[in-house]
Amino acid sequence: MKEVILIKLGEIVLKGLNRKNFEDRLIKSLRRRLHKLGSYQVRASQSTITVTPMDDDADMDEAADCVSKVFGIAAFSRACVAEKDIESIKQAAGIYLRERFEEAKSFKVESKRSDKKFPLTSPEISREVGTYLADMYPDVAVDVHNPDAVVTVEIRDTAAYIHCGVIRGAGGIPVGTGGKAAILISGGIDSPVAAYMMAKRGVELTAIHFASPPYTSVRAEEKVAELLRRVSAYSGRLNMYTVPFTKLQEEIRDKCHEEYFTIIMRRFMMMIAQQIAAQNECQALITGESLGQVASQTIGAIACTDEVCTMPVFRPLIGMDKEEIIEISRKIDTFEVSIQPYEDCCTVFTPKHPRTRPVLKNVIAEQKKIDYLPLIEEAVKNARLTEL
Ligand code: ATP
Ligand code: MG
Repeated sequence: MKEVILIKLGEIVLKGLNRKNFEDRLIKSLRRRLHKLGSYQVRASQSTITVTPMDDDADMDEAADCVSKVFGIAAFSRACVAEKDIESIKQAAGIYLRERFEEAKSFKVESKRSDKKFPLTSPEISREVGTYLADMYPDVAVDVHNPDAVVTVEIRDTAAYIHCGVIRGAGGIPVGTGGKAAILISGGIDSPVAAYMMAKRGVELTAIHFASPPYTSVRAEEKVAELLRRVSAYSGRLNMYTVPFTKLQEEIRDKCHEEYFTIIMRRFMMMIAQQIAAQNECQALITGESLGQVASQTIGAIACTDEVCTMPVFRPLIGMDKEEIIEISRKIDTFEVSIQPYEDCCTVFTPKHPRTRPVLKNVIAEQKKIDYLPLIEEAVKNARLTEL
């Protein structure tokens, strides 16, 4: 029995003239991601995108999981395909719905007939299929008001489809319709969630990771790569720049007052990140900061950090509690990787008493103790690109 996935377009339908562009992006993302799993045809017609497996042994559970992570999809259904005659439809429904009907106590059938040449009307189709299913599954009663299972029969141009139950999609808007931005990614819990949230709003991502060998290890970098691979199930293709940050951090440690370590380090991170971002046609930076979470995430510290930024900095987690962030990280399957204990460059040379209310002119005075411009230029130049 042939199964397909029927996708209903999400917020995209609201986008007026842009709709075509949004739909094209969505189809492109779907094709690219499904291609990794096997041979699938992705086709749009009548406000539905249909994913059809071209191989008989296609793994439709895997395909449905893939579809459930593509932004721009509000909901989808798995459906079986039948010939466009009522006998074939009834038989297909009887077989396809077996598992569902073994659990359900009641059902109803709804029909949609976009092919008006089909000889039966929608109510007639529902009645025929409903009677057939009621005979086949005598323990499942017809209930038109509050059924456990709603069976839908759709008569379209090319075939008839039978499905039962709508699966919630990833929501959001298709990646690529919201421009490009660079995510500053650590190995922690927060930044992968921030990446996911901006991808959900259509932003295509480039990742930047600061490493300070030998204080940070190769394993820590591999952990970040693994996190990004998991994020890419949602965001699509991703590149990662690994920036050598040791020299700058040692300079800060050797020359600046301890209270200002973190804030100066964060300013240097932003200076480097926005150069790499610009080289990659990104228009904004993204971080996983949440207000008040640590000393460098107070309003005062963020203001001192942003003073060096010429690009907008998106902080999608700014108003979220750790628990809420963790909930998303579990959902997107990054949590287990994030909690593996590897050091981050932010945790080497951490001061015991960081300033929570840094004064900008003092920060700038401290920062001037370092001849940082050549070091920043060197870090940008030596950033290493990994295609994930
Ligand atoms: P996370 O859980 O994302 O590590 P955090 O709560 O540990 O966040 P910080 O370590 O203060 O917070 O970092 C704040 C933000 O700065 C991170 O969310 C991330 O965007 C960025 N950041 C921190 N460390 C790095 C790094 N090594 N490379 C790139 N960006 C980083
Ligand atoms: Mg961190």
